[in-house]
Amino acid sequence: MSSHLVFKNCSSQFRAAVSSRGRAQVWQQAIFLSRGAGYTSARQFASPSVKVNSQRLWDSIHHTAQWGDSHDGGVKRLTLTDDDQKVRSWFAETLTAVGCKVKVDQVGNMFAVRPGANMALPPIAMGSHLDTQPAGGRFDGILGVLGGIEVMKVLHENDVVTQAPIAVVNWTNEEGARFNSGMLGSSVWGGMIDMDEAYSIQDVEGTTFQAALKRIGYLGNEGASYKTNPLAAHFELHIEQGPVLEDKNKTLGVVNGVQAMGWTYITVHGHSQHCGTTPMDRRNDALLAATRMIPQINAMAREVQGMSTVGVFKSEPSSPGTVPGKVRFSVDLEHIDNDTRDLMVKRTKEICAEFAEQEGCQATFEDTWASRGVRFNPLCIETVTEVAEELVGKDGYETLPAGAGHDSVNTSHHCPTSMIFIPSKGGVSHHPSEWSTQEHW
Ligand SMILES: [Zn+2]
Repeated sequence: MSSHLVFKNCSSQFRAAVSSRGRAQVWQQAIFLSRGAGYTSARQFASPSVKVNSQRLWDSIHHTAQWGDSHDGGVKRLTLTDDDQKVRSWFAETLTAVGCKVKVDQVGNMFAVRPGANMALPPIAMGSHLDTQPAGGRFDGILGVLGGIEVMKVLHENDVVTQAPIAVVNWTNEEGARFNSGMLGSSVWGGMIDMDEAYSIQDVEGTTFQAALKRIGYLGNEGASYKTNPLAAHFELHIEQGPVLEDKNKTLGVVNGVQAMGWTYITVHGHSQHCGTTPMDRRNDALLAATRMIPQINAMAREVQGMSTVGVFKSEPSSPGTVPGKVRFSVDLEHIDNDTRDLMVKRTKEICAEFAEQEGCQATFEDTWASRGVRFNPLCIETVTEVAEELVGKDGYETLPAGAGHDSVNTSHHCPTSMIFIPSKGGVSHHPSEWSTQEHW
């Protein structure tokens, strides 16, 4: 039923890109030049008569899972390993066979570009990643790349000529599992990380990222930058990796951005005192103060529809006979809106200061890491929404932010970007049992 989603998504990309360039009228007139089939508009092009081959996409997902097969249903395909090299070769061969030219940039990002009628335009990209976590699944990242490949096959079979070139992108080291810097390839392309800095990152065996690229033959010539290798737009189809779509019985997710997130460490300073000889009203119990803070931080996050998690908690001296003198714990705070997250950090500190004082302690704070939230391009979101509505109806989709980082965060700073989610079974991801079903594309 919705098997032409990926294809429709592709067609929807044209409008987003063209509109963003203030050329909506061009879109209105003719995005697709016709050779055989005679498509004159994206809507006609995206009609159910032209659709992706759902079974073929399903088969290619399971075919490529042989490279890194972990024999428990999952995939272990760490970036720039022999298995990654094999899937990369398959990517290049498959796309070359359907008329694409494959370029590899200096950090191994692969761009398979299908020519358009106007080669002066940068390509409109469908991108994601083919690397996985050490105990990863078959869908995270892979769906986005293989979905793009399926679109290319259908374009080729139907002899469609597009106005702008189209690209499928395989971004290097998105997972950051082998070289511990997530979204590395797109970060270099986007100018967030310097190339030499990326080259020097080492895996646990001391192999540098640059040496690993060279070893598998993917230290390419193309400049790893949006400046020399620009994209007109970037769309990423991805599994949700969470339970929201499944819980709400939705088929599709229209992703409007990525949450702002960050970590604050809180240290509560009290006094280590003898628990038998120190009267209850003479204590400076750091642990008692900390455990009173946590439910309040949780309630505050819920109030603003944000998220809070205490993941690390250490008490000193951790002796049953001593009043805890010092506690350090982490708070992860997330929100789609940057300003609201800033406010959550401020409120967290106020809550902690208040309860510390009540228990005769002091609280100190360290903001150790933060990632600003991203709102995707409104036109891209609108286009995906429109197509989703047409495919699954008003009740069939949900607009939601992504809770995890993706390559699209990096592309969004340099070209119109948005994402599409499909449900993840049980909300499970980064695990061999990660699963999605064919009905959702
Ligand atoms: Zn991913």
